[in-house]
This record gives sequence, C-alpha cells and structure tokens, in this order.
Amino acid sequence: MNNNKKKYNYGKCQVCGEQMQEKKINQDFWLKGKLVVIESVPAGVCPQCGEKIVKADVGRQLAKLIANLSHVSKRKTITVPVIKYAKEAA
Ligand SMILES: [Zn+2]
Repeated sequence: MNNNKKKYNYGKCQVCGEQMQEKKINQDFWLKGKLVVIESVPAGVCPQCGEKIVKADVGRQLAKLIANLSHVSKRKTITVPVIKYAKEAA
C-alpha cells in the first residue's frame, strides 16, 4: 500500500486558528547574498492570514536542496536560481 498521495493534515493555523490548506508554494530565501526560489514546495497555507508551514521532512529536503545548490553555484551571478522541489532525493 502506498499512502504517499494521502493529503497531510496541517492542522489549524497557529496565528488565527483557521484550517490550514495544502498548497504548492514558491519558497524563496537568501543564500550567500543571492535570492533562491524553490518551486512547488508542498506546504500548509492559511486561507485567512497567509501563514505558511512546511512538514519536517519537507524542511529537511529543502535544506538538502539548498546545501546542494551552495556546492554547485560558486560563480558570481545576479540571476535567480530556480529549482524544483523533488519529493524523492536523487
Ligand atoms: Zn491564519
């Protein structure tokens, strides 16, 4: 049985108490002075106030992607690297 497709329950918003909804978001953050965007990150988003949370394993995967990225992009650039969130680590 494969339950990976089952929707994760993000619970209630910690800010306003609304039920969080699963959405794909673009997570952006700064890495060594560069803006990095990771597309299609599964996250819980509050429809009321916009609060966002990610699951622990998604957070770990994001950290892994960021770590890989910092190895790869040593060149100086002003372009914004956009990488896809991949469910399985390669
Ligand atoms: Zn909220």
